[in-house]
Amino acid sequence: DSLGPTVTIGEILVEIVARQTGTGFREPIDLIGPFPSGAPAIFIDQCARMGGAAAMVGVVGDDDFGAVNMERLKRDGVDTSAIAVSADYPTGSAFVRYRTDGSRDFVYNIAKSAAARLEWTPHVEALIARCGHIHVMGTVFASPAAWAITERAIPLIKARGGTMSLDPNLRKELLAHGQTEEKFASLVDKADLLLPSGNELFLAAGMDGEERAIEALFKRGVKEIAVKRGEHGASARQSTGASADCPGLIVEETDPTGAGDCFGGAYVACRRLGMPLRTSLEFANAAGARNVTRLGPMEGAGTRAELEDFMARTARRS
Ligand code: ATP
Ligand code: MG
Repeated sequence: DSLGPTVTIGEILVEIVARQTGTGFREPIDLIGPFPSGAPAIFIDQCARMGGAAAMVGVVGDDDFGAVNMERLKRDGVDTSAIAVSADYPTGSAFVRYRTDGSRDFVYNIAKSAAARLEWTPHVEALIARCGHIHVMGTVFASPAAWAITERAIPLIKARGGTMSLDPNLRKELLAHGQTEEKFASLVDKADLLLPSGNELFLAAGMDGEERAIEALFKRGVKEIAVKRGEHGASARQSTGASADCPGLIVEETDPTGAGDCFGGAYVACRRLGMPLRTSLEFANAAGARNVTRLGPMEGAGTRAELEDFMARTARRS
């Protein structure tokens, strides 16, 4: 951590959630929000709440939705010096409605919002020059501007001895677009730490079978892999042979959005603070589980004390 903060680059949004499950937004329904959101913003907020030095590159609009995000990130200790306020574009937004089967309907305003207007400013330059770790999320493939800044920042951070983590956050359909597959492979090759969920481990390795995939990724230079297993918890493996497994905590799922991002934020913070593999995994597992108990994508992000308290009073799956 002494090398400088963890930085992530990408979209900052507000999320507005339908109170009742159902399909789409074609008739008037009860909504609740705005909640601060955007996968990178959720990640970095949890990272800071855990006590990790944290910074973000992003853009919000000069409006209340932007203020909702700026205030939350600042409150939780995120360095917002490289978050720009656009005078011309509104803050990005996502309206979300859950269907009864757990799938989601969205109405997005991201691609034409402030969230897509990232630029390499002097503030970004100054921040990247003092960061010790960069966390890249799969959502970067949806934004050419975020991709350009990420590509430029990685070698700068690595050149000063910094490290990189990657949360693939990918759906198979996304990989088919443009050069995403090659870009994704190039990120995997640069990553020190990988945080896959579901079949992302196999997509990253280009093969099936958990053990085989993990070994293949270690051969490509990845040093550590934290596998997310939803309600079943998570596992961590190091190329040195060390490993840890963690059963899921038994929680009532109110809002599944943001679990993976909170898991990542806590995991990266703990590891960079020098905590052992198992302790870091336990905190990350608790951060993901706690977040699903709250309505709103980052409302359940927890401080170290809150996560310790949560672990102490939550049963584990056997
Ligand atoms: P997202 O849906 O946000 O993209 P993800 O697929 O990246 O998430 P998940 O595996 O869903 O990641 O969640 C990350 C971690 O959060 C899990 O590994 C687990 O530790 C915790 N977690 C998520 N959902 C639950 C749950 N229902 N019960 C207990 N723990 C959970
Ligand atoms: Mg994910």
